[in-house]
Amino acid sequence: MPEVPQPIQRSGQCVCGSVRYVCAGEPERVTVCHCLWCQRRTGTAFGTEVVFQAQNISFSGEPPASYRHISDESGRWLEVYFCPRCGANLGFTLEAVPGVRTVPAGTLDDPTFLAPKRVKFRHVFARTRRQWGDFTSEVDVHEKHFRPR
Ligand SMILES: [Zn+2]
Ligand SMILES: [Zn+2]
Repeated sequence: MPEVPQPIQRSGQCVCGSVRYVCAGEPERVTVCHCLWCQRRTGTAFGTEVVFQAQNISFSGEPPASYRHISDESGRWLEVYFCPRCGANLGFTLEAVPGVRTVPAGTLDDPTFLAPKRVKFRHVFARTRRQWGDFTSEVDVHEKHFRPR
């Protein structure tokens, strides 16, 4: 019997490891969102969401908690997921695009496959982009921390 090739699987988890997930196949795209809502929900300059067909992501361990947000911009819902123990961001589903689910790029066990050469990347809501994430001459840049240890 010829072996049926299995789609590639990639895993990820929250900070404490209570919630784990596996994504099958390649992501549809990566959206780097600079909107004010993503700044607030992530606590930083932008959200980096890896977009999969929802049926290709399976969770294990503790079920993620969720919170439904109504967009000021569109009036439609976004359901955000997070670990009930450590609070780590675990992506969202959205009314505007049924059938897809995101996982934050930083929660993947190995996000190095997410290169713009092989996955479609988009930056959206650039109108509210923050400049403090950029390597400009006005900020100090260190390969590790500025403290020696
Ligand atoms: Zn956790
Ligand atoms: Zn956003």
